[in-house]
This record gives sequence, structure tokens and C-alpha cells, in this order.
Amino acid sequence: MNTMNLLNKQTIQNRRFPYQSLIVLLLLLITIVSCKQKPGNETSQEEQIKLATAPTFNADSAYAFVDKQVNFGPRVPNTPAHVKGGDWMVKKLKEYGFEVTEQPFKPVTFDGKVLNARNIIGTYNPSATKRILLAAHWDSRPFADKDSVKKDQAIDGANDGGSGVGVLLEVARTIHTAQQKPNIGVDIIFFDAEDWGEKDDMQPDQKKVYWCLGSQYWASNLHKPNYSAYFGILLDMVGAKGATFPKEAQSVQFAGSVNNQIWDIAERLGYGQYFIKQEAGGITDDHVFVNTVAKIPMVDILHQEINSNRTFGAYHHTHGDNMSVIDKNTLKAVGQTVIQVLYQEDSGL
Ligand SMILES: [Zn+2]
Repeated sequence: MNTMNLLNKQTIQNRRFPYQSLIVLLLLLITIVSCKQKPGNETSQEEQIKLATAPTFNADSAYAFVDKQVNFGPRVPNTPAHVKGGDWMVKKLKEYGFEVTEQPFKPVTFDGKVLNARNIIGTYNPSATKRILLAAHWDSRPFADKDSVKKDQAIDGANDGGSGVGVLLEVARTIHTAQQKPNIGVDIIFFDAEDWGEKDDMQPDQKKVYWCLGSQYWASNLHKPNYSAYFGILLDMVGAKGATFPKEAQSVQFAGSVNNQIWDIAERLGYGQYFIKQEAGGITDDHVFVNTVAKIPMVDILHQEINSNRTFGAYHHTHGDNMSVIDKNTLKAVGQTVIQVLYQEDSGL
């Protein structure tokens, strides 16, 4: 294009037009250029997204939900804290007008433990045919295998587990208290037993994936026959200060257009410094089984480091994953984006 324009310009200059003809030509050119500059042509694609009216996501409340989970203690399956944490989540979903289905299952871990696990599924507006699926895992890691001390002790899992649940409970509360409620259906699934995969210094099993046991179970045993959703959003580690969410490779592969839509909305809302428009490596997370087994396109909003030799934040699977890493600004960026996506879908904009 540029080369072509340059050639035309030179050709015109080299010809010997009479003076008046040149003026006429210039005027013509100016007219053509002005006609092309219609208002709005200069604005970026993001600025053209018309935002639907949506309620405000309260980051203080989301933060309190994360803190509450941490105060139960590590939500490690087969512990009293896990049972208490799960019961509290069921209670909160019901309080916010969601129909709750508890799906118990007993997976076997890589180290031969049989877990008393349950997926917790909240349904808003059950009769709506257009549904959006939101998910996070609610269990926390039983070991601090990437720490240098107390490697065999469970971590708080404030970000890895706690933040996703905190944001989604606040999404539920926001819908419940909003004057204008969405007409679409919203399903919130809290997957259990996501984080009992092999330790960091082990070779992962080649035949069986020991991560994401709750989503693997759910994808093969849907809580309602023939359940489906328009698309899904998974939240994992969405509360750390300065977190970056590049586009995770599996999400791009299975749900690329949804991924682009969410990132454009986030940018439009002013959260472009979190939602990075750059692709990052594929991660074995709950969305993989929702995409490949349940066949629902699902995007993972997941904290991955960019321009670093580390994939995850320094807190990952260490005792550093406590309330000190949680930042309300990050919770707000993710929560407000999710709320906006729901209301965009509802409005059809
Ligand atoms: Zn984890």
C-alpha cells in the first residue's frame, strides 16, 4: 500500500501539468481525503464497543469472601476445613437466590488417597436457554512443594483457589442485589480436587491426569442431562497484585473468539494492563476438560507471568500464597469484566 501510494505521487509530480490543472487536481485530492475522514474512523476497535448498563462489582466484598475461606484453614479434601468451607459456599449461593446442586465423588489421587470430594453447582434463572458458565476450583493445595520450607504442609491458597471463589460469590451477590437482573441463565460451578496433582519434582503420569479431578468428573457426569452453555469462563489465581492474564493457549484454541471478546471488553473498561493481548502457553486447568469432554467453549482467566522465565507467580504452591498477595484492584478488574460480559450477552450488544 505505501509503496503504491509513493509511486502514484512521484508519477504525478513528474508530469508537467499546467499550473491551473494542478490546482484543480489538488482541490480534488483534498475533497477525496476529507470525504474519507468520516468521524469515528480514527477511533480504535475497543472504543467502538458499546457497553451495556451493568451493576458495579464490589471488590471489598470479594476480598472479604477470599479472607473468609482462608480463615477456615486450607480447604484440603478430607479435612474439617474443607467441609466447613464447602458448606459455607453452598449457603452463600442459596442466600443469593441460586439453586444449588452438590455433586459428591470419590477420586483417587496420585499418592493413592481416596478423597471425599464434591463439586458445588449454583444455577441462576434455570429456565433460560441461553446460559453462561462461570467456574473456579475451591479446594486448595495439600502441600507447599514449591516452597523451601514446610514443603509437606498445606498452603492457605488465598489466590490459588480462594480468589476465583471470592470473585464468583461476589458476582452471585451482585446479580442478586442488582435492580436490573440478567435474563440469561448463569451457572457457577466450584470444582473440587483440582490441586492434588503430582509434586513439583515428580514426573507427571503419562496415562492419567491427576490434576482437575472435579472438572474431569463433572465433564463426564453433567449435573443435568444434556447440560450445555453458550460459553464458559474459568477463573484461577485472579487476585494477586499486578497479575497479568495473557491469552492462555488452550483457551485460544478452543474458544478464541470468546477470549478476544472478553479481553476487548476488559480493555474497554480500562483493565488492559491486566488482560494482556498476548498468547501464553497452554495450561492443564479445569477448562481443558470442559472444552474437550463437555464440549463447551471455555476461556481460562489465569495469572501467568509474561517476559519471565517463570510461568506462575512467585507465590504459586508456596506458603507465600496467603492474604498478603491479594489485591482488591485485581479482584475488581476481573470481577467487573465478568459482570460486564454477562450483561453484554444479556443485552445482545
Ligand atoms: Zn494450584
